[in-house]
Amino acid sequence: MEWTRSETLALAAPACNICLGLGLRIGRSEATHPCNCVLRAIFRACFDRFRDCVSREKYMSRVTLDPLPGKERRGTWGRKDEEYSADFCLVSKRTLTELEHRIFRYHFLMGADWKLCCHRLQMDRGNFFHAVYRIEQKLGRVFRELEPYALFPVNEYFHGPAKGVSSCLEEHVVPIRRPCGHGIHVFTQRTA
Ligand SMILES: [Zn+2]
Repeated sequence: MEWTRSETLALAAPACNICLGLGLRIGRSEATHPCNCVLRAIFRACFDRFRDCVSREKYMSRVTLDPLPGKERRGTWGRKDEEYSADFCLVSKRTLTELEHRIFRYHFLMGADWKLCCHRLQMDRGNFFHAVYRIEQKLGRVFRELEPYALFPVNEYFHGPAKGVSSCLEEHVVPIRRPCGHGIHVFTQRTA
């Protein structure tokens, strides 16, 4: 996937002194890369949603019918909250090194603070926070670039890609007045 400024601008930290709040870095080959502040923002958005999914009462979890691509318009039934939580954990385990994944489990999944983690992992504070930053950046990138179902944007995972405003109306609109050489054409949406 290609990272564009229109996407990174909204996610970048305004005070970031690396990307100056634009969210993109220009590499040696003129290729653009997302700034680390953007990757960490993506991770935090996914982590917030993960916590939301696992903390919600189980009886509130809904079964949804998700459309599959193709002409037959068939769908598949699923529990999105559970799927999201499982993807979040499995992708993290696959992406991180063994030590990073231990830190991830203690700090993010079990909620241990830095003191407890440092004691348990025999690390100093500086190395611990460096590792946490590295974990957030690695996972932020993977959550966004994952195919076919990226974990970010979170809304697209749960509700599918946003449709263009015009495309969903085009086949349903009919003019209520015959087009003429001058004046304004008024369109209405057919209710059928
Ligand atoms: Zn930045």
